[in-house]
Amino acid sequence: MPNGQRQHVIAGNWKMYKTIQDTEAYVKELTPLVADSDVSVFLSVPFTAIRSASEAAKGSNIHIGAQNMNDVTEGAFTGEIAGRMLVEAGANFVIIGHSERRHIFGESDAFINRKVRRSLDDGLIPILCIGETLEQRDSESTEAILKEQLSQSLADIQSDQTSKILIAYEPVWAIGTGKTATPEHAQEVHVFIRETIKELWGEDNADKTTIMYGGSVKPNNARHLMEQPDIDGLLVGGASLNVESFSHIVHYQNALTH
Ligand code: PEP
Repeated sequence: MPNGQRQHVIAGNWKMYKTIQDTEAYVKELTPLVADSDVSVFLSVPFTAIRSASEAAKGSNIHIGAQNMNDVTEGAFTGEIAGRMLVEAGANFVIIGHSERRHIFGESDAFINRKVRRSLDDGLIPILCIGETLEQRDSESTEAILKEQLSQSLADIQSDQTSKILIAYEPVWAIGTGKTATPEHAQEVHVFIRETIKELWGEDNADKTTIMYGGSVKPNNARHLMEQPDIDGLLVGGASLNVESFSHIVHYQNALTH
């Protein structure tokens, strides 16, 4: 299936930045700038800003989501948040298994798998993040790591739920470092990811799966990345904090390349 038939998504991940006030101003400014965009625009905001972001984005083509959730619906888990709480606040999607959650907070593939399944049951679109560290890359274990992360994080997904899951390939060495995978290298890895999804879910589902790239995406490299046939979207951290640079990435077709 050519790239054009898959959902194209440009998602911002704000991490632990922006207050409610910042969020309202950002969404108000971004809305007209992306109104004519032919990709889906996602913004993953702090929990406290979800409600105000979704209210500010009402009637626009901007989808609001969260950056994490717990794997159960309620309980004595101080500091955690349930998917149904995110939905109530106005979230449509949730990032699961971001490398900062895996490496700083020690999240395992088994936990991430339970979260993916819970998010689907709660009616959220999960963006499952996978990616190798620099050490794993240097020891040439990228493919083995990605295969393990995919097969474990996507275990026991119902066949009617596969189309709702987005995958983000985010090499850990490229996140927040200014180092981007070359578009050609990212393409090769995306082909490997699609092959692995084919083994898990079959060819038809693999062809329809949106696979995004993340890791130091900027206005000047977005276009070349998106021109790759198996890169269907971008997950943008630092460059999504500024309205102008994020809107340039959304309009990557017009952006300057290196
Ligand atoms: C991210 O947070 O998912 C990310 C890719 O960050 P950055 O774009 O800053 O590398």
